[in-house]
Amino acid sequence: SAIADGVVRSADRLGDLVTGRAFEPVLRLGVTGLARAGKTVFITSLIANLIDRGRMPGLAAAQEGRIVAAYLQPQPDDTVPRFDYESHIAALTGPEPHWPESTRTISELRLSLKVRPNGLLAGLQGPRTLHLDIVDYPGEWLLDLALMEKSYADWSALTLQKLASRPEAAEYFALAQAEDADAKLAEPRAQALAATFTAYLQAARAAGWSDLAPGRFLLPGELAGSPVLTFAPLPPSKAPRGSLAREMERRFEAYKAQVVQPFFRDHFARIDRQVVLVDVLGTLQRGPAAVADMRATLAETLGAFRPGRAAFLTRLLGGHRVSKILFAATKADHLHYTQHTRLTQLMEALVKQAAERARFAGAETAAMAIAALRATTEEEREHNGTKLQMVRGRLLKDGRQAAYYPGELPADPSHILAGDSTLEGFQSMAFAPAPMTLRPGDGPPHIRLDRAAQFLIGDRL
Ligand code: GDP
Repeated sequence: SAIADGVVRSADRLGDLVTGRAFEPVLRLGVTGLARAGKTVFITSLIANLIDRGRMPGLAAAQEGRIVAAYLQPQPDDTVPRFDYESHIAALTGPEPHWPESTRTISELRLSLKVRPNGLLAGLQGPRTLHLDIVDYPGEWLLDLALMEKSYADWSALTLQKLASRPEAAEYFALAQAEDADAKLAEPRAQALAATFTAYLQAARAAGWSDLAPGRFLLPGELAGSPVLTFAPLPPSKAPRGSLAREMERRFEAYKAQVVQPFFRDHFARIDRQVVLVDVLGTLQRGPAAVADMRATLAETLGAFRPGRAAFLTRLLGGHRVSKILFAATKADHLHYTQHTRLTQLMEALVKQAAERARFAGAETAAMAIAALRATTEEEREHNGTKLQMVRGRLLKDGRQAAYYPGELPADPSHILAGDSTLEGFQSMAFAPAPMTLRPGDGPPHIRLDRAAQFLIGDRL
């Protein structure tokens, strides 16, 4: 009955007060990055390594043996999809390990950590509990922030200007130029334009471009086919009432108000720590134009973490801010460890400009090269009298074992950024995931995931 429920609930709360549970701190960790950057693998491996303790020597609390327990709990947000940890870990640890399904939308999971205090308090206090709420969301959604300050006309002009020089956009560009935007709205026209524009975004992603806004066009989820996703940029026009152009403008505004703003309000504004994952190696392999584009996109992404970036965001944040941001170049297991420093330096250089602004705003930032799940082992081989430092793994395509030498990253990352160094012959290889249970002595099943965790949450454990 209602009364009994009420009694039980207040008794619960009393219990919480007595045991101190009412004051258990919560830390919200945002995990983002563009599609295929490695978000799903990162979160799955982070949770597995925290629950299955002993493989995180770089995480001080783990090394000191202070993490007494780590367990999954129901998340606090009932309407957000749950991060499907169980399926993902099953994919990675099954008899035939395979990569889990990638992030398609926002999801969340609560990992609770019971930790013994260190230092002076060690003998005086029992274990404390920290709830780590991990929020996984597509990096593409951050790019939508730029739309918030633009009118439909401005956005159209800027987008079409960019599309004019991209071969993938030729079909949409021609379609948009030929369209009579002032004609009376006919839904099939709007749908044809949106479909062709979406096809361009898909082709652009496949070609390695990073700037793929509006973010929901590629990962629409339950919004697929709805009017908020049935718009596209059009050349300037008078846009009389009832015209195609006027309706496109209305839908653009609806996208901002009903899709972008709620994400920033309900999720982004509550994040305490953030990791931005970047597939630096994958981008390098696509050449200088892809690198330049990724750099610009990263700067844009980081703009979201800069207070004062957008008036509406400042209002939503109400003084709350992300205090630490980690930029991690993923899949570092494609490189022999002797090149990891260079990969880190490249990651640093890529975000330098953007990171400086964020630091100015009070957030601590760091760059690292990591592999959330190591799929290779290291190997040195003689080749024509020189020693090559290679990695070896099982190929995804046919299951064969192969050794791989991707070439050498330049010592000075500015060569890559300037487009001078195209890293010819740098071909990334797709390796199958190695079984998560490596033999003792094989080393940890990840590369610097523990350091990443130390930077992101170590100070709270
Ligand atoms: P998401 O789209 O950001 O969720 O990306 P995923 O986590 O699904 O990763 C995309 C793909 O990148 C995976 O299917 C793997 O092929 C690869 N990948 C991700 N993390 C690693 C890693 O640590 N090592 C290796 N070798 N490959 C990885």
